[in-house]
Amino acid sequence: MITVDCSHSLAIKDKLLVHVADKLQALPILKSEKFILTPVDDSKTIDKIDVLDAISEFLESIDMKENYQAIPKGDEIKIEPLDGKDMKEKLEKISRTDTNPFFECTHCGFMTRYEDELRTHRLIHYI
Ligand SMILES: [Zn+2]
Repeated sequence: MITVDCSHSLAIKDKLLVHVADKLQALPILKSEKFILTPVDDSKTIDKIDVLDAISEFLESIDMKENYQAIPKGDEIKIEPLDGKDMKEKLEKISRTDTNPFFECTHCGFMTRYEDELRTHRLIHYI
């Protein structure tokens, strides 16, 4: 079980959660400003390295690799803002996309513009 602490990065928490959980096929448990990743299959474990990889992939996809850093400590990963270049503008852009959802997953709130993508995404809830 890996806990991701977003108490200093709430602006990206929801999208980060969806990306990481999808990527690792993990079940996220929300706990106020943190989320805990548990394996869908009890016989598997979640590797911290994979979580860190998924986080950096996500930050790259929203062009904010210079704006946040993931700090691993034991079973917890803390997402800390770095106040990099254009941070405010980028965050505004992300929240703008938020207000314009097309298809939304009723299980976890995952949003996408593509119906096909939603259908594929939904499969993670039925394993
Ligand atoms: Zn979902």
